[in-house]
This record gives sequence, structure tokens and C-alpha cells, in this order.
Amino acid sequence: MRDADLIIIGAGAAGLTAAMFVGRYGLKVVVVEQLGAGGQIINAERIDNLPGFPDGVAGHELGPLLHQQAEAAGVEFVLDTVERLEASGVDRIVHGASETLRAPAVIIAAGSALRPLGVPGEEKFLGKGVSHCASCDGALFAGLDVCVIGGGDSALDEALVLAEHASDVKLFHRGPQLDAQQVLRDRVAATDKIELALDTIVEEIVGEDAVTGVRLRNAKTGRARLEACRGVFVYVGLEPNTAFVRGLLALDAAGHIETDINMRTSLAGVFAAGDIRAHSVAQLAAAAGDGATAAIAAFRYLANITPPPSRR
Ligand code: NAP
Repeated sequence: MRDADLIIIGAGAAGLTAAMFVGRYGLKVVVVEQLGAGGQIINAERIDNLPGFPDGVAGHELGPLLHQQAEAAGVEFVLDTVERLEASGVDRIVHGASETLRAPAVIIAAGSALRPLGVPGEEKFLGKGVSHCASCDGALFAGLDVCVIGGGDSALDEALVLAEHASDVKLFHRGPQLDAQQVLRDRVAATDKIELALDTIVEEIVGEDAVTGVRLRNAKTGRARLEACRGVFVYVGLEPNTAFVRGLLALDAAGHIETDINMRTSLAGVFAAGDIRAHSVAQLAAAAGDGATAAIAAFRYLANITPPPSRR
């Protein structure tokens, strides 16, 4: 059992900002991360709406910088998959696949996963034409037709990335209008290679050994058609990674962790930050803000537990 003053679950923007803040307060902080530092932003080709970066910044550059800053504040990193969070008196126990950690306070910043579309062919062709990462896989579709599914910021952002590689990008959104920011709509409208189809439901991803197309239905007319494409990129929203706290913390209907404005959850000593919490706006700048708020709230909470474990 590894002891700490504070355990942070997740090393995305929220978790690493929290780590950097609490590390500077001189507490013993352990960050548990599944894949490596940076979280979802690692896959963002360019982030244009982070304060202080007027020319944008690539996700793969920002992730290591956040990690470096947290490490410089003296926090420890553990690579593990958290399977369960347990409360035992004042202790909060984090059960990972490889080891168990214990602290009086925990900040949960485990983020979200991309929601699957849930149609036939999606699982079968994963890695054989179906992808969730345009910046990782876009170059594999150089000169080929690809489809993007979704109408939010992610779908439009990724369609723009794919337009740099593919011969044509077809963007299918089930609704009558896009949900994305105007700046992204304008950039998509100005990109000849991207063709937008609204009111278009993707019912199936088809192929033999690899993807050859998608089966569509018009939401207004009901008319079905088959559209040829070699790649299918799915961006239909996010699902919070909260399976490991189900039954322990109050969650909203979609599974996000309920918090107050100080990022306190329904269980004392447990805080949540970033897009895993209810009412998050799911933006990078907001995740960093949540991380700072959670860090300060956790520090104040720990100040009332005298002395904190590392000083006993
Ligand atoms: P999102 O904002 O939740 O949008 C999901 C999109 O997928 C919506 O258009 C939704 O359409 C559609 N959708 C949902 N379920 C579907 C289904 N089963 N079949 C077909 N379409 C479906 O998700 P997101 O675009 O991934 O963005 C997540 C968060 O990250 C947002 O807060 C966003 O602002 C942020 N983000 C920001 C940037 C940026 O600032 N550049 C870039 C990426 C993401 P309906 O309206 O019909 O539900």
C-alpha cells in the first residue's frame, strides 16, 4: 500500500494543473494515469482557444509541458488503471490494477472517452477503416474518401485535419444544424474538400475486409442510400470515465460526478475536476481552472486533518 497526502486520478489538463498546484504546497502527491501525460489533448492537432497561445498549440506539445510543470512541483507519477475507489474512515483508497494507494484526499480528473456510435460495423472495422483519431490515422487515408460523423466541435475540428490528407471528407450530422462553434463552421464552409450533409443518420458501416462505405438514412424524408468511403471517423460526444466510482459518489443521469463550486463531491475528501464532473463546459481552459480549484479545496481540506500523513 502506497501512502500519500493526495492522490490525483488522471493526468489530463485538470489533473496535471491540480498536481502542479498541490505539489507547490509541499504535499506528497501521487498522480495515477493510465496511458501517459496529457489526456485527450494529446490527440488534438492544434488548440486555438487556450489563453496565452495566440498562434495555437499542438496537443502533443502541450501534454509534455503540463507534465513537466507538475513534475517540477515534486509530484510522483504512477502508471496504472484505477479499478475502484473505496472509503474507509478518513482514508480514501485507490485500487489500481497493479497497486493500491491510500490518502485522505483524492481528486478525480479521469476525463471522458469518445462515445461510440453504436451501429453495425463500427466494432468490426475498428482499425480497418473506423477510427477515433484523425491526427493519429489521418495520413493513412491520404488521397482516399473519408466520412466524419457528428456535428460538434470535435467532428468539425477533425474534419479539418482530415481535409489535409484525404481526397474528400463527407461530414454527416443527424440534426438540422451543426452544434459546433461558428469559427469552426466558417472554416469547414471555406474548405472545398469538406462536404456537409445535415439530417443524415449513419445506420451501418459496411465493407468486406475493410470499410467500403456507410449506409445512410435521411432523417426528414426517410430515404436510404449508400455512400462510398474508405475511412469513418466517429465524433458523437463524450462519456465520463466514472465506472470506478459508481455507487460511491453522486452522479448525474449521464454518469458525470456531481460537485459543488469548490469541486467537492458527495464524499468528504473526494474532489472532481474537468469534463468528468457534472456541468463541465468540457474545454481545456475550464479543465485547468477546475484543477486549480480542486487543488486549493483539497489543500484546505487536508489542513484540517492534522497532521497530514506525510508529516505524521
Ligand atoms: P458534443 O459537443 O457533445 O457533440 C456531439 C455531436 O455528436 C453532436 O452534434 C450530436 O448531435 C452528435 N451525436 C451525439 N450522439 C449521436 C449519435 N448517437 N449519432 C449521431 N450523432 C450523435 O461532443 P464533441 O464535439 O466531442 O465535444 C465535446 C466537448 O469538447 C465540447 O464541450 C466541445 O466544445 C469540446 N471541444 C472543443 C474543441 C475546440 O474548442 N476546438 C474541439 C473539440 C471538442 P445532436 O445535437 O443531435 O445530439
